Amino acid sequence: MQFDLRKFITTGTRPYHLDFECDLSGRDFSGARVLQPVPVSFDAELDGGEARMTLRAKASVHGECARCLDPVESEETVDVQWTVKQRDLDDPDFDLPLDEAGRLDLEEWLYQEFLFQIPTVLLCTEDCPGLCPVCGRKRGECTCPKQESDAAPIDARLSVLKSLLN
Ligand SMILES: [Zn+2]
Ligand SMILES: [Zn+2]
Repeated sequence: MQFDLRKFITTGTRPYHLDFECDLSGRDFSGARVLQPVPVSFDAELDGGEARMTLRAKASVHGECARCLDPVESEETVDVQWTVKQRDLDDPDFDLPLDEAGRLDLEEWLYQEFLFQIPTVLLCTEDCPGLCPVCGRKRGECTCPKQESDAAPIDARLSVLKSLLN
């Protein structure tokens, strides 16, 4: 999906709105995937000689927990606004994916924003205990004797609290 940004900045008169679906299923997000098509809303309006563009989308991201490898699904939202001046179009270091003609690749842009948005480390729960180093099952779900490395400081603090309550 392309948006002719140069044309819009130089000759545009009216605000532009576009709803489209974006297929990101072939893209990799640090190991996570966006399997379903993503509904996207794109707006552009002129403000003086600048174009103000808004990109909004919500996707469900499928990955695996970095600690226990269980499947993880999370909702991620992109809601970004960019203001572009005409001279940005000829700036080789400009951050948006533009071609030489000044056309903006909306799918590539969305991909970049989601890549920025999606955590590189996904967890099934904040305090996922991870896997037992002995049997490979989830910690707490196995009957292996407790490992010394399990003596996390949180347990120590909790036992202090307990003794205070008693
Ligand atoms: Zn986990
Ligand atoms: Zn075990």
